[in-house]
Amino acid sequence: MSKIRSTREKIVNRESSLTEVVESYLERIGRRNGKLNAFVTVEGEESKKRAYEIQKRLERGEAGPLAGCVIGIKDIICEKGKRTSCASNILKGFESIYDATVIRRLKEADALLIGRLNMDEFGMGSSNENSIYGPVRNPHDETRVPGGSSGGSAAAVAANLCTAALGSDTGGSIRQPASFCGVVGLKPTWGRVSRYGLVAFASSFDSIGPLTNSVTDAALVLQSIAGEDPEDGTSSAEPVPDYTAGLEADEVLRVGVPEEYFGEGLHVGVRNVIDGRLKQLEKERKVELKPISLPHSRYSIATYYILATAEASSNLARFDGVRYGHRSDVSKLKEELREEREALQKSLNSSRGDQRDRWSQQLDSMDSALIRLYKRSRTEGFGREVKRRIMLGTYVLSAGYYDAYYAKAQKVRRLIRQDFLDAFSEVDVIAGPTAPTTAFELGARLNDPVQMYLNDIYTTAANLAGICGISVPAGILEGLPVGIQFLGNRFEEQKILRAGRLIELLEGQG
Ligand code: GLN
Repeated sequence: MSKIRSTREKIVNRESSLTEVVESYLERIGRRNGKLNAFVTVEGEESKKRAYEIQKRLERGEAGPLAGCVIGIKDIICEKGKRTSCASNILKGFESIYDATVIRRLKEADALLIGRLNMDEFGMGSSNENSIYGPVRNPHDETRVPGGSSGGSAAAVAANLCTAALGSDTGGSIRQPASFCGVVGLKPTWGRVSRYGLVAFASSFDSIGPLTNSVTDAALVLQSIAGEDPEDGTSSAEPVPDYTAGLEADEVLRVGVPEEYFGEGLHVGVRNVIDGRLKQLEKERKVELKPISLPHSRYSIATYYILATAEASSNLARFDGVRYGHRSDVSKLKEELREEREALQKSLNSSRGDQRDRWSQQLDSMDSALIRLYKRSRTEGFGREVKRRIMLGTYVLSAGYYDAYYAKAQKVRRLIRQDFLDAFSEVDVIAGPTAPTTAFELGARLNDPVQMYLNDIYTTAANLAGICGISVPAGILEGLPVGIQFLGNRFEEQKILRAGRLIELLEGQG
């Protein structure tokens, strides 16, 4: 059932007003956010004012398609006059001076923007534990992570703190948290949604997309934000189809089941849920299952973590504390520099011979105040994981290692894309688990980056290939949600939405 449509109907039939709807969201946020930590900013007063305006338009029959939808925004998407921190100290206190294209489009569609959502710093993480605001908790079990990096978005939608949320997905950050929190998460084709105003992590991977309670709602939000944008030269001119129109079309979907997505590392319980759902669909003659192979899958994590870190190291170079970002205390820094220089000079004056040369060399090679300012600002501004990514990315791009890592990974990326092109010549969509496990305990993987990265084993390939993907709740395992993922060819969002809708329509799925 579409929450966006049912809310709108209630308002139009005068069963409730949009102000009441907003107030009930604000009340729930007040009650639950202290623990869940999904929202980092809530726009209480402004939301009520907007509710009144949209309500008037609804009454006049002039409201846009998202009137009635109360939406939260991941704190990585620029919203004019609002803090946009990317959950990082380096952007703490930064207020955007313009709206991202998706924000402008949501406003034009009369969506009501209720606040900003917690996330992993700059989108780097799979558990929402890398945030200056502290971790987000999973509404299904508050001792567990919500997934990441759009953990706040997934938790807020799951806990009914808003109707929908926007997230961003560079390697799985919409789909994996959607899976962990039991909501729908859609990563559109790269180029389908404008990235103008999305703070860049890895530009050739980043996509903005919706997290919602239903497939229909994901289609509705996508409808409003998709399409070409002169502000983003990489946005596609491909026409935007009607995403809700064919959701329940009759023809049998050909579903590819890649052997590589059901192998080692996949939790058996998760495997059984996914297998069970696919068999059910097959039995009901809704789909035709076809075993396929994506032979380069096993390289996707390595390829992703080489290329995405390379792009990140370059994108994050702009945060230098001068033009952008947190600036370290300059007067303190100058004072320290003066003292150090004086001490060196003193040593130099009182020494001779070799010793003297050494002091003089040290004095010459001292970082200038500017270089120190860059270093200090970035050291203070970035968190551990972001620093790790910058170092990895700088390493794979360095002259000595470029060919061995970066250039080679680009070639593997091409092979991974080819695997999908081959597969989509035979099937409409590809199905598998979204993540290898259900939500894990807070802190469980924080000290083991490789274990954390392995969470993205089924999601990164879509970003490497630029194709679209959706995660839809498929069942509950030991009290925790399990998501099924459908991948579709470029600009075939309609097919993955249809596949997702089939899962929703299965008995017991509501
Ligand atoms: N978990 C992945 C990472 O840490 C994906 C992040 C994302 O999609 N933004 O890079």
